[in-house]
Amino acid sequence: MRAAVGQESETTHSKTNRETSLVCFDFDWTILNGHSHNVLADAKIKAGEEKAFFNMIFPQSDEKYFQNKKLLLETFNVLFNQGHNIAITSFTHYPKIIIPSLERLGLTNEQLERIYVIAWLPETNEIAIVFGKNPHIEKAMKHFKVAHNELVILIDDSATNIEAAKKYKFKTVLVPPGINPPNHSYLSDAIKIGKEIADEALKIAINPETEDNEKALSKSISITYDEEDKDNNIGGCVGRMKEKENHFCLTLG
Ligand SMILES: [Mg+2]
Repeated sequence: MRAAVGQESETTHSKTNRETSLVCFDFDWTILNGHSHNVLADAKIKAGEEKAFFNMIFPQSDEKYFQNKKLLLETFNVLFNQGHNIAITSFTHYPKIIIPSLERLGLTNEQLERIYVIAWLPETNEIAIVFGKNPHIEKAMKHFKVAHNELVILIDDSATNIEAAKKYKFKTVLVPPGINPPNHSYLSDAIKIGKEIADEALKIAINPETEDNEKALSKSISITYDEEDKDNNIGGCVGRMKEKENHFCLTLG
């Protein structure tokens, strides 16, 4: 793993001469050995005040605080060197501990400034089941002007989020359950897929397809919720995805 990481670091891809790409990390149980939202919510911490409770929430040593800390840090470094934009896509009310956590993980200030945090909770479980992290990812794509779904990776411990992401043709890496998953091949998988999409991004730039970024962006799927369809959907969950003129409604199956 370490040798592969070192080798990969040497093949830095410049962001300037290729299509933009994106790696989205989940936060709880993907970066952290735990669920920060649940801990903070159970302690009745108000959103916005979480940073003051940072050390109280996770008093363990750093090795215990992060999922496979050393390899995780190396993975971040390689993904940055591969030229990807990086977002944290989290279901949480407490986004203010995310960047301080990543600083504690060992990311540099320059890296931290490049990370985009997208955090909110879905309104209902049903919305979470149908859409997973896709609305968060879509926001990150717009922020970084990423035009191609196949140049996006989601790294997440939720099989539900992973399945939802696959439906949108995002690349995916499922993090195994538990503390410091001993099978940490998910991190080398992230690096391998990162290399593949970096190569693909270069190919698209050299040999552009018929559509340019602007056109592809306008086709990107936006998700809205339609009150009128509330009665026809389980638990009031309404998912209507708009792809320009084409509307279709997801149902829970
Ligand atoms: Mg998670």
